[in-house]
Amino acid sequence: MTAVGFRAQLVDEIRQYAAALADSYRTDEPVYTKTRGGRIKLVGVHAEQHDGLLVQLDDVAVHGVTSSDDVAGARPVPQSRPPGTWEAVALGVEIDAEVAGWCDVLGLPSRNSLQADVRQLAGAAGEPRIVSDDQAAALCRAMRSWRTRAQAQIGWTRDPYRPRATCPVVTCGQPGLLRVDLIRRAAYCIGCQSVWDDVDGSIRVLAEHITAQTEARAVTSVRLRSGWSGHGGAWTQPNG
Ligand SMILES: [Zn+2]
Repeated sequence: MTAVGFRAQLVDEIRQYAAALADSYRTDEPVYTKTRGGRIKLVGVHAEQHDGLLVQLDDVAVHGVTSSDDVAGARPVPQSRPPGTWEAVALGVEIDAEVAGWCDVLGLPSRNSLQADVRQLAGAAGEPRIVSDDQAAALCRAMRSWRTRAQAQIGWTRDPYRPRATCPVVTCGQPGLLRVDLIRRAAYCIGCQSVWDDVDGSIRVLAEHITAQTEARAVTSVRLRSGWSGHGGAWTQPNG
Protein backbone atom coordinates (compact mmCIF):
# COMPACT_ATOMS: atom_id res chain seq x y z
CA MET A 1 0.00 0.00 0.00
CA THR A 2 1.22 3.52 -0.70
CA ALA A 3 2.15 5.83 2.14
CA VAL A 4 -0.77 8.04 1.20
CA GLY A 5 -3.16 5.09 1.20
CA PHE A 6 -1.88 3.91 4.55
CA ARG A 7 -2.29 7.37 6.02
CA ALA A 8 -5.83 7.61 4.66
CA GLN A 9 -6.66 4.28 6.29
CA LEU A 10 -5.25 5.47 9.63
CA VAL A 11 -7.30 8.66 9.48
CA ASP A 12 -10.38 6.63 8.66
CA GLU A 13 -9.77 4.35 11.64
CA ILE A 14 -9.12 7.31 13.95
CA ARG A 15 -12.41 8.91 12.88
CA GLN A 16 -14.34 5.71 13.56
CA TYR A 17 -12.92 5.50 17.10
CA ALA A 18 -13.55 9.20 17.68
CA ALA A 19 -17.15 8.83 16.54
CA ALA A 20 -17.71 5.85 18.86
CA LEU A 21 -16.26 7.85 21.75
CA ALA A 22 -17.80 11.25 21.16
CA ASP A 23 -20.91 10.97 18.98
CA SER A 24 -24.36 9.72 19.80
CA TYR A 25 -25.78 7.15 17.46
CA ARG A 26 -29.12 5.63 16.54
CA THR A 27 -30.10 2.01 16.39
CA ASP A 28 -33.10 0.68 14.55
CA GLU A 29 -34.57 -2.48 16.05
CA PRO A 30 -37.12 -4.28 13.92
CA VAL A 31 -40.35 -5.05 15.78
CA TYR A 32 -42.13 -8.28 14.95
CA THR A 33 -45.52 -9.71 15.77
CA LYS A 34 -47.00 -13.15 15.41
CA THR A 35 -49.99 -13.44 13.13
CA ARG A 36 -52.99 -15.66 13.93
CA GLY A 37 -51.60 -18.10 11.45
CA GLY A 38 -48.47 -18.35 13.57
CA ARG A 39 -46.28 -16.45 11.15
CA ILE A 40 -43.80 -13.79 12.13
CA LYS A 41 -44.54 -10.41 10.61
CA LEU A 42 -42.49 -7.22 10.68
CA VAL A 43 -44.69 -4.45 12.09
CA GLY A 44 -42.25 -1.60 12.39
CA VAL A 45 -38.89 -0.29 13.45
CA HIS A 46 -38.09 0.97 16.91
CA ALA A 47 -35.47 3.72 16.74
CA GLU A 48 -33.38 4.43 19.81
CA GLN A 49 -30.81 7.17 20.40
CA HIS A 50 -27.64 6.18 22.27
CA ASP A 51 -24.93 8.38 23.75
CA GLY A 52 -21.31 8.08 22.71
CA LEU A 53 -19.02 6.01 24.92
CA LEU A 54 -17.57 8.99 26.82
CA VAL A 55 -21.03 10.16 27.89
CA GLN A 56 -21.96 6.61 28.87
CA LEU A 57 -18.75 6.28 30.86
CA ASP A 58 -19.45 9.57 32.60
CA ASP A 59 -22.94 8.32 33.36
CA VAL A 60 -21.62 5.20 35.01
CA ALA A 61 -19.04 7.24 36.92
CA VAL A 62 -21.41 9.93 38.19
CA HIS A 63 -24.63 8.05 38.79
CA GLY A 64 -23.35 4.58 39.36
CA VAL A 65 -25.56 1.70 38.52
CA THR A 66 -28.39 0.16 40.45
CA SER A 67 -28.47 -3.56 40.68
CA SER A 68 -31.45 -5.75 41.34
CA ASP A 69 -29.56 -7.02 44.39
CA ASP A 70 -29.69 -3.58 45.97
CA VAL A 71 -33.37 -3.09 45.21
CA ALA A 72 -34.24 -6.38 46.87
CA GLY A 73 -33.26 -4.83 50.18
CA ALA A 74 -31.38 -7.87 51.39
CA ARG A 75 -28.15 -6.01 51.13
CA PRO A 76 -28.92 -2.31 51.51
CA VAL A 77 -26.05 -0.02 50.64
CA PRO A 78 -27.36 3.49 51.34
CA GLN A 79 -25.72 6.22 49.29
CA SER A 80 -22.98 3.90 48.26
CA ARG A 81 -21.76 3.53 44.74
CA PRO A 82 -21.02 0.13 43.36
CA PRO A 83 -17.26 -0.42 43.46
CA GLY A 84 -17.10 -0.63 39.68
CA THR A 85 -18.05 3.04 39.53
CA TRP A 86 -14.67 4.12 40.84
CA GLU A 87 -12.96 2.29 38.01
CA ALA A 88 -15.15 4.26 35.60
CA VAL A 89 -14.15 7.50 37.34
CA ALA A 90 -10.47 6.58 37.14
CA LEU A 91 -10.72 5.66 33.48
CA GLY A 92 -12.55 8.90 32.68
CA VAL A 93 -9.80 10.92 34.37
CA GLU A 94 -7.13 8.95 32.54
CA ILE A 95 -8.69 9.43 29.10
CA ASP A 96 -9.26 13.11 29.85
CA ALA A 97 -5.57 13.59 30.70
CA GLU A 98 -4.37 11.67 27.65
CA VAL A 99 -6.66 13.62 25.31
CA ALA A 100 -5.45 16.92 26.83
CA GLY A 101 -1.85 15.72 26.38
CA TRP A 102 -2.49 15.02 22.69
CA CYS A 103 -4.09 18.45 22.14
CA ASP A 104 -1.08 20.01 23.85
CA VAL A 105 1.48 18.10 21.76
CA LEU A 106 -0.30 19.03 18.53
CA GLY A 107 -0.76 22.65 19.57
CA LEU A 108 -4.55 22.48 19.50
CA PRO A 109 -6.43 24.76 21.90
CA SER A 110 -8.62 22.89 24.37
CA ARG A 111 -12.30 23.12 23.52
CA ASN A 112 -13.34 22.66 27.16
CA SER A 113 -15.19 19.46 26.36
CA LEU A 114 -13.68 16.01 26.16
CA GLN A 115 -15.96 15.13 23.25
CA ALA A 116 -15.01 18.26 21.33
CA ASP A 117 -11.32 17.60 21.94
CA VAL A 118 -11.62 14.01 20.72
CA ARG A 119 -13.38 15.29 17.59
CA GLN A 120 -10.76 17.95 16.92
CA LEU A 121 -7.98 15.35 17.30
CA ALA A 122 -9.73 13.21 14.68
CA GLY A 123 -10.07 16.27 12.45
CA ALA A 124 -6.40 17.19 12.86
CA ALA A 125 -5.36 13.62 11.96
CA GLY A 126 -6.37 14.44 8.38
CA GLU A 127 -3.87 17.34 8.26
CA PRO A 128 -0.30 16.11 7.62
CA ARG A 129 1.04 19.57 8.46
CA ILE A 130 -0.34 19.23 12.00
CA VAL A 131 -0.02 15.50 12.56
CA SER A 132 2.96 13.56 11.21
CA ASP A 133 2.56 9.98 9.97
CA ASP A 134 4.19 8.64 13.14
CA GLN A 135 1.92 10.78 15.28
CA ALA A 136 -1.12 9.61 13.34
CA ALA A 137 -0.18 5.99 14.00
CA ALA A 138 0.31 6.71 17.72
CA LEU A 139 -2.93 8.69 17.90
CA CYS A 140 -4.74 5.78 16.27
CA ARG A 141 -3.39 3.41 18.94
CA ALA A 142 -4.42 5.85 21.67
CA MET A 143 -7.94 6.26 20.25
CA ARG A 144 -8.34 2.49 19.96
CA SER A 145 -7.24 2.06 23.56
CA TRP A 146 -9.69 4.72 24.81
CA ARG A 147 -12.50 3.13 22.81
CA THR A 148 -11.74 -0.42 23.97
CA ARG A 149 -11.27 0.46 27.63
CA ALA A 150 -14.41 2.61 27.73
CA GLN A 151 -16.40 -0.14 26.05
CA ALA A 152 -15.14 -2.76 28.49
CA GLN A 153 -15.76 -0.54 31.52
CA ILE A 154 -19.31 0.28 30.43
CA GLY A 155 -20.00 -3.33 29.54
CA TRP A 156 -18.83 -4.60 32.89
CA THR A 157 -20.50 -1.97 35.01
CA ARG A 158 -23.72 -1.27 33.15
CA ASP A 159 -25.76 -4.34 33.85
CA PRO A 160 -23.82 -7.30 35.17
CA TYR A 161 -25.23 -10.02 37.37
CA ARG A 162 -23.81 -9.45 40.87
CA PRO A 163 -24.01 -12.66 42.82
CA ARG A 164 -23.53 -12.44 46.56
CA ALA A 165 -21.15 -15.38 46.36
CA THR A 166 -17.55 -14.90 47.37
CA CYS A 167 -14.73 -14.72 44.87
CA PRO A 168 -13.34 -18.25 44.63
CA VAL A 169 -9.74 -17.12 44.31
CA VAL A 170 -8.25 -18.12 47.67
CA THR A 171 -6.17 -14.99 48.08
CA CYS A 172 -9.25 -12.82 47.40
CA GLY A 173 -12.30 -14.66 48.76
CA GLN A 174 -14.44 -11.54 49.24
CA PRO A 175 -18.20 -11.54 48.76
CA GLY A 176 -19.95 -9.14 46.39
CA LEU A 177 -17.03 -8.61 44.03
CA LEU A 178 -18.04 -10.93 41.21
CA ARG A 179 -19.51 -9.40 38.06
CA VAL A 180 -20.99 -11.86 35.63
CA ASP A 181 -21.89 -11.06 32.05
CA LEU A 182 -24.47 -13.71 31.26
CA ILE A 183 -24.63 -12.93 27.57
CA ARG A 184 -20.91 -13.01 26.98
CA ARG A 185 -20.54 -15.95 29.37
CA ALA A 186 -17.72 -14.23 31.15
CA ALA A 187 -17.09 -13.05 34.70
CA TYR A 188 -14.74 -10.71 36.40
CA CYS A 189 -13.73 -10.05 40.01
CA ILE A 190 -13.40 -6.34 40.69
CA GLY A 191 -11.23 -7.19 43.71
CA CYS A 192 -8.48 -9.37 42.28
CA GLN A 193 -9.12 -8.76 38.53
CA SER A 194 -9.53 -12.48 37.85
CA VAL A 195 -11.42 -13.39 34.70
CA TRP A 196 -13.52 -16.46 33.99
CA ASP A 197 -14.75 -17.21 30.52
CA ASP A 198 -15.77 -19.84 28.06
CA VAL A 199 -12.37 -20.04 26.38
CA ASP A 200 -10.99 -22.35 29.05
CA GLY A 201 -14.37 -23.44 30.42
CA SER A 202 -13.66 -21.76 33.76
CA ILE A 203 -17.01 -19.92 33.58
CA ARG A 204 -18.80 -23.25 34.15
CA VAL A 205 -16.77 -23.95 37.27
CA LEU A 206 -17.58 -20.46 38.52
CA ALA A 207 -21.27 -21.02 37.77
CA GLU A 208 -21.22 -24.19 39.87
CA HIS A 209 -19.49 -22.34 42.67
CA ILE A 210 -22.08 -19.54 42.62
CA THR A 211 -24.96 -21.99 42.47
CA ALA A 212 -23.57 -23.98 45.38
CA GLN A 213 -23.19 -20.87 47.53
CA THR A 214 -26.56 -19.45 46.57
CA GLU A 215 -28.43 -22.68 47.23
CA ALA A 216 -26.60 -23.61 50.40
CA ARG A 217 -26.14 -20.37 52.28
CA ALA A 218 -25.74 -22.31 55.49
CA VAL A 219 -22.47 -23.72 54.33
CA THR A 220 -19.79 -21.46 55.63
CA SER A 221 -17.45 -19.78 53.24
CA VAL A 222 -14.57 -21.31 55.16
CA ARG A 223 -15.74 -24.80 54.31
CA LEU A 224 -16.28 -23.90 50.68
CA ARG A 225 -12.90 -22.27 50.49
CA SER A 226 -11.19 -25.43 51.70
CA GLY A 227 -12.99 -27.30 48.95
CA TRP A 228 -11.73 -25.05 46.18
CA SER A 229 -8.21 -26.33 46.24
CA GLY A 230 -9.46 -29.48 44.54
CA HIS A 231 -10.67 -27.53 41.51
CA GLY A 232 -7.23 -26.77 40.26
CA GLY A 233 -5.50 -23.76 38.87
CA ALA A 234 -8.43 -21.77 37.61
CA TRP A 235 -9.54 -21.10 41.17
CA THR A 236 -6.26 -20.62 42.91
CA GLN A 237 -4.65 -18.09 40.66
CA PRO A 238 -5.94 -15.22 38.58
CA ASN A 239 -5.93 -16.23 34.96
CA GLY A 240 -6.86 -12.89 33.59
ZN1 LIG B 1 -11.41 -11.93 43.55
